Amino acid sequence: MFFTGTRSNCDVTSAFAIARGLADDGGLFVPQEFPAISAGEFSAMTGMDYCQRAALVLGKYLTDYTAGEIRYCVEGAYKGTFDNDLPAPLADIGNNRKMLELWHGPTCAFKDLALQLLPYLLTTALKKNGTGREAVILVATSGDTGKAALAGFAGVKDTRIVVFYPRDGVSDMQKLQMTTQKGENVAVCAIAGNFDDAQNGVKAIFTDAEMKKFLLDNNMDFSSANSINFGRLVPQIVYYVSAYCDLLKDGSLKPGETFNVVVPTGNFGNILAAVYAKKMGVPIKKFICASNKNNVLTDFIRTGTYDRNRQFFTTESPSMDILISSNLERMLHLLCKGDCAQVAALMAELKNAGKYTIGGEMLKELQQEFYGGCCDDETGRKAIAEIFREHNYLCDTHTAVALAVGENYRKETGDDTLQVIASTASAYKFAPAVLKALTDKELPADDFAKLELLAELTGTAVPAPLANLKGDEVRHKKCVEKSEMAEFIRQSLV
Ligand SMILES: *Cc1c(COP(=O)(O)O)cnc(C)c1O
Repeated sequence: MFFTGTRSNCDVTSAFAIARGLADDGGLFVPQEFPAISAGEFSAMTGMDYCQRAALVLGKYLTDYTAGEIRYCVEGAYKGTFDNDLPAPLADIGNNRKMLELWHGPTCAFKDLALQLLPYLLTTALKKNGTGREAVILVATSGDTGKAALAGFAGVKDTRIVVFYPRDGVSDMQKLQMTTQKGENVAVCAIAGNFDDAQNGVKAIFTDAEMKKFLLDNNMDFSSANSINFGRLVPQIVYYVSAYCDLLKDGSLKPGETFNVVVPTGNFGNILAAVYAKKMGVPIKKFICASNKNNVLTDFIRTGTYDRNRQFFTTESPSMDILISSNLERMLHLLCKGDCAQVAALMAELKNAGKYTIGGEMLKELQQEFYGGCCDDETGRKAIAEIFREHNYLCDTHTAVALAVGENYRKETGDDTLQVIASTASAYKFAPAVLKALTDKELPADDFAKLELLAELTGTAVPAPLANLKGDEVRHKKCVEKSEMAEFIRQSLV
């Protein structure tokens, strides 16, 4: 199995793609073909645990890793790190809907599924590639990636990690999770800007010749833990495969019966992983792409025009406050049937004019596979209140966007197919907004008192990784301008 770039063709191994993160021309690495999972394999997988399922799926893409290496990676990532050793359990929430709970890991959001595994995949790749250089992981985060990457990479030999987050664009709990991070190889910095500024800054630094030279002089190489790295994507395919196996196992579906997925979307990584799962044989009928008020994807799916020239909103689902969805480039590559020149041209338009339009067969196929919908904070809060009242189920603000859009999809289309809703964060990560949905009470000022109030109101427990932050020292206090990001990196690396 080899990988190619989205903007120009190449032939690289998975270890190369994972170590490098981004192609030299700024494109993303994609598999040259999609390996199939046979009916027999699906059936065998119903009897496997999560690690075994992950090893089977990974083995089909990472053909340059040995079976032993893959086993070492998945067991390191998923044994003993998630509640009850169940990284992606399904919960029934009534009306033919299941929550795919992806927040039982060390940082209470779905990014853990990928970022617990990535350090293992990456350090194994570096050994295989044998450059002997240290890997510098650069991260731009809308909140959850940063902490999940820090938790994954802190203390990992031969790696350094530098995280940038938008100063006013993350929740208090997210900020505290990052600024208290321990470890010799970690650096965390706020920037005066939004997530897109952070992401654009990181992307520019990646391809900057001067920075490259600086790193080489220090025997280092950049790598990426953002969802542009294929090593982030492949672990996400696993949980859609695993969910299908669980649905087969509990009799919710018969082999070949289809289901819909509803995904609260920002950078388009999570929902793209579902598309890749379908390419492998998971019978997904419709991809329901749920956005908050930053509804650039809703418009794209409905009209074929992607236009980032619009107002940016700060919402109660901050991890989806994104106007440039990086992984959409991989979707375009699929829709173009692998025509790299066409993808490169669209990406150039996005860079120069801030927008592009697709039409014809590409748009037709996009609309056949996808439904795009969005909702505002108030609708999200209503969804939180309703699902708690009717089904005693507590969900966070991102998952609430998916719930609401999933309902709209049913109303608009009459399609009552089983919905698997990606539940991407613990409600406790966004306690103030969730509390606002559930009670009119005045909220206590202290962050931890808010967590306790939420526990009291809902009869659920504060997740240990959040409760344990209490009293931790804030170690990372710096905030820089966009133009100062490169300098911050230089200073933190030497
Ligand atoms: C990152 C994130 C999302 C968006 O996922 P993408 O893969 O970027 O589309 C949604 N919800 C939460 C809680 C997240 O952390």
